[in-house]
Amino acid sequence: MKELDIYTEWTNCPKCENERKQKLTLIEHSYGKVPPEEYSKMLNEYYHASYGHMKLTQTYKQGIVGNIYKVDFSAKCSDCDWTFSYYFMKNVLGE
Ligand SMILES: [Zn+2]
Repeated sequence: MKELDIYTEWTNCPKCENERKQKLTLIEHSYGKVPPEEYSKMLNEYYHASYGHMKLTQTYKQGIVGNIYKVDFSAKCSDCDWTFSYYFMKNVLGE
């Protein structure tokens, strides 16, 4: 019986994205409250740190083997170690 192929893709980590958004909100709220040079510096550092952040590896197998449909998915962020996994199996003939 044929085994399913493994696919890997890189994308953004939802946890890191959320933290980046919160950080940007904090920086934006400091506008007018900190010296303009400091505000520019914080914004530059934020955009520099956000550049090219595709750190989430998604690995999955999906398809029908015999009469079983399978999904085996896992994701891991190399920045914050956040992980997610999902596994599903179903008999396609309803047995
Ligand atoms: Zn992350």
